[in-house]
Amino acid sequence: MIDVTLIGTGGMLPLPERWLTSLWVEYKGRACLVDCGEGTQIAINKHGLKLSRLDTLFITHLHADHVSGLAGLLLSLGNCGKTDTLKIYGHIGTADIIRQLCCICPVLPFEIEIHELPLDSIMRFDWNEIIISSMPLKHSIDCLGYSFVLNRKPVFNPQKAKALGVDVKYWKELHAGKSVVMDGQEITQEMVTDEQRKPLKLTYMTDTRYFDDMADFARDSDLLISEGMYGDDEYISKMLEKGHMVFSQSAKLALESASALLWLTHYSPALVNPNDYKESVQKIFADTVISRDGEKITLK
Ligand SMILES: [Zn+2]
Ligand SMILES: [Zn+2]
Repeated sequence: MIDVTLIGTGGMLPLPERWLTSLWVEYKGRACLVDCGEGTQIAINKHGLKLSRLDTLFITHLHADHVSGLAGLLLSLGNCGKTDTLKIYGHIGTADIIRQLCCICPVLPFEIEIHELPLDSIMRFDWNEIIISSMPLKHSIDCLGYSFVLNRKPVFNPQKAKALGVDVKYWKELHAGKSVVMDGQEITQEMVTDEQRKPLKLTYMTDTRYFDDMADFARDSDLLISEGMYGDDEYISKMLEKGHMVFSQSAKLALESASALLWLTHYSPALVNPNDYKESVQKIFADTVISRDGEKITLK
């Protein structure tokens, strides 16, 4: 089970009722955050999430609405007793800027470890049993999208174990993936589990213009979080210039990538009522959510 919370839904500037876009992902008691705009630590608190669980930060790009909250976040982490290392991932060139932002909070009770990711290829690495992939996006500056994939163990099926006459005392070992030998016969995990389950997948892509490879990167997402600066298609060419998308383009992306659910986010401050476009965008992709700050889901 992966717990996902969209911390905010705004782009460019925080508004009184709309924090900046960032994402909280929690799995087995540990959490990571994607992006950290102004005031993100306040929004995390407001949504009832435990900052002390945060061990990793992923940065998409170095525009202020995605990184200017870093110093506040670091100070808040120190204040809540964090002493273990905070890992920060961003694209090549991120480390320098992070170090400069950290100048205003030079004394922290924990170390920061910065990892730079390539801008010309997809990179895969692990976080907390989850496979993270980063992919270069097409924005006005260098930018990365991220996907989270959790491969799940097949579920133990007591009926199958009973049918094979497996004694209950062996169940725990089989459950843990081990084989057992019973009356000279080997019982393997595959003999007592249901079929392989589909991995859980979450994809996060903002800020970017629409381009063909995005659908492959987001393929089969249980949840696709994608940007929509505006709801009206009249902004498509303006957004193309600025490296952004409108609602209908994200809906098209959800459809092409065969994603199960789409959350829209990163609304322009000029877009006062994103819900005005709900009906039209759901005509393209029915399972579209016009996200609000604090939108939550448990992927399972
Ligand atoms: Zn932005
Ligand atoms: Zn940006």
